[in-house]
Amino acid sequence: MFQPSRTSETTMDSLFDRIVASGVLRDIEAQGAAEYPSEACGVLVEDADGIVAVPFENMQDKLHAIDPERFTRTSRTAYNLNSLKLERIRSERNVCVIYHSHVECDAYFSDEDQAGAVTPDTSEPVIPGVDYLVISIYDRKAREANLYRYSSQSKRYEHVDGTEIEA
Ligand SMILES: [Zn+2]
Repeated sequence: MFQPSRTSETTMDSLFDRIVASGVLRDIEAQGAAEYPSEACGVLVEDADGIVAVPFENMQDKLHAIDPERFTRTSRTAYNLNSLKLERIRSERNVCVIYHSHVECDAYFSDEDQAGAVTPDTSEPVIPGVDYLVISIYDRKAREANLYRYSSQSKRYEHVDGTEIEA
């Protein structure tokens, strides 16, 4: 069972509150456990019925197999989601979050995550208006979830809220 406990009482982000209340973290945990030890990825869609997870295939292993010099990492330490599928969903539904799991490491927004989320030249968001959720998976169990949002001041994605997840 999920027993969310806030890591910080000073940040109470309304989107993160809705994510926790929706129970969708359980779905991401289940996906992360099923795809362990690969990173799992997908998007959260919010509409009148609430927030739901739309799982994506992690394409990283296929890309690594085709071009290992460009895609040096495997799905164990990286994720890559189908951008055409993402654009199609974004044209039809309200995508509020892109999520992925970290396998046997904490739910921080890594340098690679930052680099993938902003344009290389101007550090503007690649996908404006969408936050990033990272969930840590240890031994197929979720430990922590953190939400990151773009700051136009720092031109980076900054931590806005998070929760520990007790088994
Ligand atoms: Zn990551």
